[in-house]
Amino acid sequence: MAYQHIVVPSDGEKITCLHGAHCIPDHPIIAFIEGDGIGRDIMTASRRIWDAAVEKAYGGQRKIAWMEIYAGEKAASVYDGDYMPEETFEALREFLIGIKGPLTTPVGGGFRSLNVTLRQVLDLYACVRPVRWYEGVPSPLREPQNVDVVIFRENTEDVYAGIEYQAGTPENEKLASFLREEMGAEFFEGSGLGIKPISAFGTKRLMRFALQYAIERKRKSVTIVHKGNIQKFTEGAFRNWAYEVAREEFGDQIITEEELWDQFGGKVPEGKIVVKDRIADIIFQHLLLRPTEFDVLVAPNLNGDYLSDAVAAEVGGVGIAPGANIGDDVMLFEATHGTAPKYTNQDRVNPGSLMFSGVMMLEFMGWWEAAALVTQAYERTLKQKVVTYDFARQMPGAREVKTSEFATAIIDNMHA
Ligand code: NAP
Repeated sequence: MAYQHIVVPSDGEKITCLHGAHCIPDHPIIAFIEGDGIGRDIMTASRRIWDAAVEKAYGGQRKIAWMEIYAGEKAASVYDGDYMPEETFEALREFLIGIKGPLTTPVGGGFRSLNVTLRQVLDLYACVRPVRWYEGVPSPLREPQNVDVVIFRENTEDVYAGIEYQAGTPENEKLASFLREEMGAEFFEGSGLGIKPISAFGTKRLMRFALQYAIERKRKSVTIVHKGNIQKFTEGAFRNWAYEVAREEFGDQIITEEELWDQFGGKVPEGKIVVKDRIADIIFQHLLLRPTEFDVLVAPNLNGDYLSDAVAAEVGGVGIAPGANIGDDVMLFEATHGTAPKYTNQDRVNPGSLMFSGVMMLEFMGWWEAAALVTQAYERTLKQKVVTYDFARQMPGAREVKTSEFATAIIDNMHA
């Protein structure tokens, strides 16, 4: 289709998707949103790194054709004040894979979060966050190498559905009277009210995706995280529906923890993935104290949100934690931190979060060799103690470099 400001690269080919399987040509068009604040610095550095890895891995046979699309402040300047132009959604629907830097969201007013809008409009229902430690990264844990999990957070439901009624408004009073008079509910006068929808549809598609991922990547277990002991018909139902998908659709590839102990004495049969569940509060402790027991984690929106950030902190925090928001067709990879506005255009911050989101993207594309080159070069660079300011302040003897210099060091450390 014709776009107003988006220039489709003439040397690239469109990625297609048939029955959930993406077909990646050798010169795929990939959309990128630069992002606000530090977005330009980290996107420029990361694209240099990804391009170098692809070039080294495939000797020019494969190459990404980058296509800039717009959101946030840059969009407002290009589209005359429009922070989220319609053609950004259209381009993502057409070209299917994109990667983005962070976008500003004003607190307590102004426009709605652009990130949340992107997820909801494109129905990117799974927020996927792999969390693992790289040697040399400063961590508060004694044995951070034991953390290696992938969190699948539901992205469209739960308290994020936006069904909230402010205390004192007619809508709130109407709902409060209905709840008290017709449903027998009891709560304090003047309460703000929120509704937490969790559906079988939303839960099952997330669990299905997590299980497919676990099977393809040969992961050991999938843990359903929930607060079903208290919220039986939302969080508890999430747990039940997730088990249902596992048993009904993946019965020959999984065993439940119960079966593991009842029938196999705790020894996992060859090739099987263990499906288990844990209450949300205890899992925060377990991921600190016994992280080796966990692998893929599946959680509703709010618990998944907390959990993703808490676990990322165990292995180095926002500077390196990558993420992606994924739907049936469209995948949008993104840095998990914000715009860090005080560092805008200073060429100072850590590009790691965006860079590793790109590694995830390369892996989802099946370009494993390029993804591995970035990871290995990153590890070498850290061993040399060449880091950006955020890690330098926690690493005695480190050499602090700029964002662009860090990218150059990684590229220099890439050996095919
Ligand atoms: P933030 O931008 O993530 O920054 C908080 C602090 O985290 C920074 O001051 C810096 O710490 C550190 N940091 C973040 N990114 C870093 C990087 N790449 N390298 C090194 N250090 C990094 O959080 P915020 O200040 O709360 O939010 C700013 C804006 O970003 C807000 O408008 C918010 O809504 C938005 N936001 C967007 C997204 C997104 O687009 N996905 C996510 C979160 C927030 P030091 O000050 O200690 O150096």
